[in-house]
Amino acid sequence: MGEKMVLVIEDDELNLKLVKEMLRLRNYRTIEAMDAETGIQMARRHKPDLILMDIHLPKMDGLSATRIIKSDENLKQIPIVALTALAMADDREKALEAGCDDYVTKPFRLQNLLKAIDQLLDSSDRGNIMGNMKDDQV
Ligand SMILES: [Mg+2]
Repeated sequence: MGEKMVLVIEDDELNLKLVKEMLRLRNYRTIEAMDAETGIQMARRHKPDLILMDIHLPKMDGLSATRIIKSDENLKQIPIVALTALAMADDREKALEAGCDDYVTKPFRLQNLLKAIDQLLDSSDRGNIMGNMKDDQV
């Protein structure tokens, strides 16, 4: 688990720092992008184990970026956790519709963020072993 790589796409510098520190404490490797376009490029180049996707980003938003990643045969298996603002209840629904696997609301609670990440990385491990059964199981 310590070797897993998480791509954080977040345009708010403080949030980005906070998330990276949280992940480092848990021995995840992190790479980062501050806009969607760069994030998609990094996903293609590095094939991270999981993506944390801010929904509100400059230019292309996190929903569009999620749709692009989830329609890419080489990337669609990567779990995406949306980062949504607590006040924006609408965002959560839209995030799931766009193909995000889960969401956490900002401001973050450390436990919620780690729980979402750990759960998805565990289930993606099972998925690799047993084949892609995720749709059938749900
Ligand atoms: Mg933002």
